[in-house]
Amino acid sequence: MQIVPLVHQLQRHWRALPIRVRGTLIIAMPVTCLLIALSAFAWLKASLVEDQILVQQTQGVRLETKRLLNALIDAETGVRGYGLTRRSEFLVPYQNAQTIIPETLDRLEEMVQSDPQQTARIRSIRALADENLRIFQQKLTLKRSPELTEPAANDGPADIVVPANALYDWLQTGKETMNEARSEIDRFAQEEEALLIASRKHQDFYRQITWIVLCISGIVGILGAMLAVHLFYQLEQELASREQNLQRANEQLEVACAQLQRFTANASHELRAPLAAVLSNAQVGLMMLNDLEADPPSIRKKLQKIVTLTKQMSTLVSELLFLARHEGTLSIEALPSIDLNPLLAAVYTDGLSQAKAYQLTLTHQQPLSPVIVNADADLLRQAITNLLTNACRYTPAGGSIELRLLAESQQAIIQVEDTGIGIPTEALPHIFERFYRVDRKRAKASGGLGLGLAIAQQIVQAHRGQISVQSSLGKGSTFQIALPISVDTSKQNVALSSTVATAI
Ligand code: ADP
Repeated sequence: MQIVPLVHQLQRHWRALPIRVRGTLIIAMPVTCLLIALSAFAWLKASLVEDQILVQQTQGVRLETKRLLNALIDAETGVRGYGLTRRSEFLVPYQNAQTIIPETLDRLEEMVQSDPQQTARIRSIRALADENLRIFQQKLTLKRSPELTEPAANDGPADIVVPANALYDWLQTGKETMNEARSEIDRFAQEEEALLIASRKHQDFYRQITWIVLCISGIVGILGAMLAVHLFYQLEQELASREQNLQRANEQLEVACAQLQRFTANASHELRAPLAAVLSNAQVGLMMLNDLEADPPSIRKKLQKIVTLTKQMSTLVSELLFLARHEGTLSIEALPSIDLNPLLAAVYTDGLSQAKAYQLTLTHQQPLSPVIVNADADLLRQAITNLLTNACRYTPAGGSIELRLLAESQQAIIQVEDTGIGIPTEALPHIFERFYRVDRKRAKASGGLGLGLAIAQQIVQAHRGQISVQSSLGKGSTFQIALPISVDTSKQNVALSSTVATAI
């Protein structure tokens, strides 16, 4: 397989991965190598400690074995010496051996307890050592037996008379057992050495492997880190180019938006004049019909339809023009600080006649102290009026509407609450979309075009505020506008005493 196409293919696959996955893999590479290197290092360290323990233990076994052998040889030599000279100081090594040998054997057995073969060997050494001690004891007893002594003249202490052949036999007694014990001890020591060498070889092998792993993971880690840096660099470049593309697309969109806005504004503006002409001509036609004696009803009806449709068209064109002109946010700092109290009072006064026309009760509730916000008064008035107009349109005769202004620590809240037909829950997320109407039948009856709430939302958002709605079908709706209180006055403590006015 050729390497270059393979690399290209890998690069293609790599680029196809999501950025999050690529980032994770880039970080995972050196981290994995580091973890492997750390594990290998930990293993090396542990094996060194293990090795040390093993060496110490083998040294201990060696020492104890030497002690055992020395004790046994000393005892034998002592007994021989005593046998030849009958001097009691020769018995000291034998007496010492009686305590040293069992102690040493106990220690050795404990040290090699993990190895069943060596444990068995120690047991056999113990049996041989016991046998040797028993033979030494027997020799001493034999030495003292009367056959080997002769009575001294004049009843003095008995002289030792040992015939040469008897002495030779005596010396030979137990030699085989002693040799057997020695060779068993030697075998034990050799086996221990062999075990040490084997385990060292084993460990050396593992240590070499660990070193290799450590070196490989170190090299791979360094390469991985270099690759990671390279990939990060690539990723950064890719992100930068994506950002540039996005910026370019954004600029293009902004240009397109501005063009569209200009087009809508121009088109709306251009449409207004012919629409006004059509409307005025239709109205003149209607007036002329009034002067005629014979009034053909079909012509009157048609002219009235022209008037109604042209009025609707004019409203639509005006609203579109409004939306096109006021796209984007306003500079809050550049806006004047206004008190919402007189503004709300004005909207309320204007709304009275509308409410009366729909046979509704309109009330208002406002605080006594000023509620200052940075706003374009005309725009804000338009937004509240839209909400109030909707409340009038969608509340059956006899219902009531309340216009409320509340001052919170950071926000001014304007609410328009009605007892109208309400809005279905599924329609609520779309209510502020342009040209959205809950159902065309009731919209047609009310004459709405589906732009009133979109305009209100655009105005409120331009003031960095929020508009929201709560509604219950058949019970009524509450539309709320929240605006940030002007920074200069937000610290003022605004009393919330309310005034209520009613009109029918
Ligand atoms: P329209 O000009 O059709 O009223 P809007 O954007 O003002 O358009 O409102 C969108 C839709 O929201 C309307 O078609 C109407 O069904 C519904 N709506 C708005 N305000 C109310 C309200 N106070 N009560 C019930 N429905 C409402």
